[in-house]
Amino acid sequence: MKKIIYILALMFVLTACNNDQPVKQNANNTPNTVNTEKEASSSSAKNILTKDDYVSLKVNELGEIPVIMYHGLVDENPPTSYQRTRADFKNDLQYLYDNKYRVIPMNDFINHNIKVEAGYTPVVITFDDGEPSDFSLVENNGKLVIAPDCAVDILEKFAVKNPDFGKGATFFVNGGESQFKGAGTYKERLEYLINNGYDIGNHSYSHLEFSKLSAQKLQEEIGRLNAGIKNALPEYKVVALTYPFGIRPKTDELKKLVKDGEYDGEKYHIDIAFREGPSMPKMLTTIHKNFDSLNAPRLRGADDDKTGSDLWGYLKKYEKNPERRYISDGDASTIVIKEAEEGNVNKDSIGDKKVVTY
Ligand SMILES: [Zn+2]
Repeated sequence: MKKIIYILALMFVLTACNNDQPVKQNANNTPNTVNTEKEASSSSAKNILTKDDYVSLKVNELGEIPVIMYHGLVDENPPTSYQRTRADFKNDLQYLYDNKYRVIPMNDFINHNIKVEAGYTPVVITFDDGEPSDFSLVENNGKLVIAPDCAVDILEKFAVKNPDFGKGATFFVNGGESQFKGAGTYKERLEYLINNGYDIGNHSYSHLEFSKLSAQKLQEEIGRLNAGIKNALPEYKVVALTYPFGIRPKTDELKKLVKDGEYDGEKYHIDIAFREGPSMPKMLTTIHKNFDSLNAPRLRGADDDKTGSDLWGYLKKYEKNPERRYISDGDASTIVIKEAEEGNVNKDSIGDKKVVTY
């Protein structure tokens, strides 16, 4: 028995360390590395920071970007640590805002297209399971409007009060009309989200454990959901997936089918697949050499994990060790890092962005 546990533990470590999967292969681009001593510091162009600015702002564009995961809001007494009270959810947003975190869309996270102001840390917000307390519609005088007190309603009001916080979240849905419940059809609900700056992701058609599925069934679960979204939103491209229960397929061959597969004659491609908890001690950016796009970590939006691996565990770690945070230089086309970090950049993943060291 002990031996089996040891082998399982070893397999887990090996899987967790599997880091050779860049988000975007871009073999044609040979990125330039610029030393600030020579170029950036002498620039007087608008928005270009000097080396002194990097030092004083502690710019760190290979630092950690929290991706937060919610599963529905309640007024009080959450049934599990996955649900969040509305008061705590509002408190999460306020803390993030007050502590210089700014919301970015999923696509910008994936492509490392970080447009937050200099000195700020990006944050990504996600919701799983199509919960009506996260988003639903009601009919008001024949018009579909956001249901009061759902997470989207709270996010919208927060954005009006704090427009510089940024707005957006990704909703990982399953199949069928029961998603988000409330008024409107599946199509109308998804359309509402997209038209208001939110994103839709794939949480599989029927929320089964991926570790128990055949290659065919796995592709059906992913492809059928994508097809349903495409039917509702013909122009929309689904790029992200969250594993139901956070459980990944067991073999490498099956894992690859999460990224590229085919269902009903239609091919699909997923850029990034998230777990339901931190799978590594750091919330790595997608351009870090150790980032695994099929095993991307998220932080449960909660504050009761004794191991410190939920949102508030990490926020406290970042308070204690602020150098862990991603700190932007305010320019999406450069990746500004300390010289010692240069070897940690996955150069195949950065496209034509320029690495600047200081
Ligand atoms: Zn789920």
